[in-house]
Amino acid sequence: MNNVKNAKVAIVTGASRGIGAALARRLASDGFAVVVNYAASSKEADALVEELKAQGAAAIAVKADVSNADDVRNMFETTEQQLGKVDVLVNNAGIMKVLPLADTSDALYTQTLDINMRGTFNTLREAAARMNNGGRIVNFSSTTLALNMPGYAIYNATKAAVEAFTHVFAKELRGRDITVNAVAPGPVATALFLDGKTEEQIQNFAKMPPLQRLGQPEDIASVVSFLAGSDSGWVNGQILRANGGAA
Ligand code: NAP
Repeated sequence: MNNVKNAKVAIVTGASRGIGAALARRLASDGFAVVVNYAASSKEADALVEELKAQGAAAIAVKADVSNADDVRNMFETTEQQLGKVDVLVNNAGIMKVLPLADTSDALYTQTLDINMRGTFNTLREAAARMNNGGRIVNFSSTTLALNMPGYAIYNATKAAVEAFTHVFAKELRGRDITVNAVAPGPVATALFLDGKTEEQIQNFAKMPPLQRLGQPEDIASVVSFLAGSDSGWVNGQILRANGGAA
């Protein structure tokens, strides 16, 4: 394991479970000191931090609802106090509730925009003021944006916004040597994708990519590892569709 004291610092939002937990594991094994952010799943976040520490990494769990600007500011402050200034921000936290637009309540509309879109805005705004030069930002879009399936209008709208943020923010950080990219996964076997789907629906999604399986969180973690690392320095303002060739 790398020298914990000199480790670069990575915040992974929504890292208590699913893809985010795999990202935290991967970035820790890449040598980063990792912030495991969560909103509700404190037991899972604490257990993950213990696991990472047992492997010799520096890690802390920080509760912050990304849709709340004060929470996000506090998360950056806690990170700076406990681990140091942020080098890598991974905006992974998100929700997806599939429902026809006509059946979407005001509350669900607001919640989806607040977490997926405002949440990304909140962390990007904080990052602009506080991240180390030479850093990396990785946002989370989704391949559903390219598929236009019924039920995904509101979710896709938030991911279209995240892609727009990615392209523009990369340019706004001119002179800082910070890259801003997004990953757009296809279906990945996590609660966000699996919950509420029949076995048949899941199998249909699994058949979509020519690679003929669902993505696993680790498939996405290797892509984020690349975008967060030194080898991706010339990739900036891009959307990387990691989906086994589904779209
Ligand atoms: P997941 O298994 O449902 O996990 C979501 C994570 O986000 C949890 O750790 C959750 O923590 C956290 N979270 C939710 N609301 C939050 C908030 N307001 N503030 C901070 N953290 C919050 O989802 P996932 O499948 O890993 O998805 C991760 C990202 O990948 C999302 O942006 C999603 O849109 C994107 N994505 C997923 C798929 C897929 O098929 N799974 C495909 C394309 C894109 P708590 O439990 O503590 O709330």
